[in-house]
Amino acid sequence: MNLEDRCTESVYDTGRSVGSHRCCRKGILEYEGKKYCKLHYPPNVKLKDEERNKKWEEKWKQEQEEWKKEDNQRKLILMIKKLKKYDLSDFEKIKKLSDKC
Ligand SMILES: [Zn+2]
Repeated sequence: MNLEDRCTESVYDTGRSVGSHRCCRKGILEYEGKKYCKLHYPPNVKLKDEERNKKWEEKWKQEQEEWKKEDNQRKLILMIKKLKKYDLSDFEKIKKLSDKC
């Protein structure tokens, strides 16, 4: 295959060797005068990036919810500890109870 027929994108090598090489796929799509394979075609890359960002956003939101839950649990425990003199072993019991809710 001629180099001109190949995708223009450089791919970073993973593993032991550090460096990059030209993508070995055939450039079937053209963007701004350059040839790209389906995987590296800029509009496709952009789409993938957006997908990834969306996933991260969802993960972040989920984590924040978890944090809120943890925080509430801690507040609850402190409150109970103040009311009655429970020790730390009750933490697990309370955690289990609130998980059921
Ligand atoms: Zn490529």
